[in-house]
Amino acid sequence: MKNKKWRLGVPRALFYYYYGPWWETFFETLGAEVIVSPPTCREIMDLGVSLAVAEACLPVKVYYGHAAWLAPRVDTLFVPRLISVEKKSFICPKLMGLPDMLRAALKPGPPIIDTTVNLARRPEEGLAAAVQGMAGALGVKGYRVDLATAAAEARYRTWTCKLQGDTTGLAARNTGQVGERRDALPVGIIGHGYLLYDRYLGMDIPGKVASLGGQVILPENLAPLQVETACRQLPKRLYWTLGRKILGAALHLMEQENVAGLIHLTAFGCGPDSLVGDLAERYARRRGKPFLLLTLDEHTGEAGLNTRLEAFMDMLYRRRSA
Ligand code: SF4
Repeated sequence: MKNKKWRLGVPRALFYYYYGPWWETFFETLGAEVIVSPPTCREIMDLGVSLAVAEACLPVKVYYGHAAWLAPRVDTLFVPRLISVEKKSFICPKLMGLPDMLRAALKPGPPIIDTTVNLARRPEEGLAAAVQGMAGALGVKGYRVDLATAAAEARYRTWTCKLQGDTTGLAARNTGQVGERRDALPVGIIGHGYLLYDRYLGMDIPGKVASLGGQVILPENLAPLQVETACRQLPKRLYWTLGRKILGAALHLMEQENVAGLIHLTAFGCGPDSLVGDLAERYARRRGKPFLLLTLDEHTGEAGLNTRLEAFMDMLYRRRSA
């Protein structure tokens, strides 16, 4: 770290879509050169599919592809061992073993910083330990860690506020395809951030809905309180962080009269989604809200998906006219 900038690779996949700005700012403030892999493309997806076990879900396979793309280009890879990012809730277990699975798959590969993040019991202590672990891996201690944490927190806050305030939908903004029709239909699109915001992996569904005249509403457009309040109607607390966020967003959007319908984007092989998706669909049916489930895998054809989307949007327009 003293004479040259340490090249730290951050795969642009999975939780990068939730914490990317925090990680980048933290490591850059500590003096590392952060190299983020490029947006997912066919080459990266094929690389991941060839390295990962067949049973892995599509987002994990794609993560392998990003890590493999970075491996020859960096000094170290950052692959945190995410267990829990909030009190009494957990992340999908597939992410806990990710650093070990990658070490086995990327041989020879660069060293991996696999800081454990576990905030389930004592969030403040867990966060402090994770931050010290991440900085310690680069050989940095003391006040510089506090400065980097403050900078990362500030950027993260600004970023999340921007997501919430973006009522046209993040993906719609990214593609520049905000629904132009004045009678745009508000449509909720729920799913994991790493599917919704990865335009290749998630086939840019939010952008497609926007181009069909929909006004896209994504889980990140909602305030955390709206999501948590909606979750209170569940008979039991969901202890998957992302599952609760997705289902809470779905329940909140179902209650909005102006929201014409919901689309759930899910990954083939995702255990938590099979439960959350089924619950969301049942609640939608009870409330008479049109619901479309789209499951993606590496063989999903775009033409068939477009047809289903167009048919769904047509049906929403017809319902409104009727
Ligand atoms: S939640 Fe589902 S999509 Fe995400 S890593 Fe776990 S199995 Fe894969």
